[in-house]
Amino acid sequence: MGKRGPQCSICKKSELCKSVNELLDRKLTYQQIAAKTDLHHKTIGRHARECRNEETPITVGKPKRKPPRMPAIEGLDDKAKAEVLVTYLHAQLRWMGRNAGGDTKSIALLTGQLLNAQKTLAKLNGAFDLTETQIVRSTPWKAIMAKVIAVLEKHPAAVLDLQRVLGELEAQGKL
Ligand SMILES: [Zn+2]
Repeated sequence: MGKRGPQCSICKKSELCKSVNELLDRKLTYQQIAAKTDLHHKTIGRHARECRNEETPITVGKPKRKPPRMPAIEGLDDKAKAEVLVTYLHAQLRWMGRNAGGDTKSIALLTGQLLNAQKTLAKLNGAFDLTETQIVRSTPWKAIMAKVIAVLEKHPAAVLDLQRVLGELEAQGKL
């Protein structure tokens, strides 16, 4: 039971309190927890702030975690650099997929960069004849695109940005 004790309708019910706390620990938003528990999101927010001393309210669209940081690539050879870049871009896209309120232009740009990085890596791996079609049909690419598409569906305008960015990269000979 928290500080507010019997005043808090969540703290009053120990089973409910336990499950709400677990969801808060998993960094679900108040709205997401409200949908799961039939509680009002304000009740959950009050419990989080006043009973659990959580200072920052979590709101929809707010990043649940910090975005991944670009690892240091100095001193690596080209192949290792490309591998780091592909991994980093995957992580960035996953992060953006989870934070759908994020910047859709960046998502479109990242998607183009990732395709580019994967092509570079394929070349460095000696697969000179790896075509764009083969990359696009690969399992990792499909998994990424499924996430990207889920975000783009919520932001239809970003589809145009994505097409524009991919078109630009193609025109620059980067794809
Ligand atoms: Zn409480």
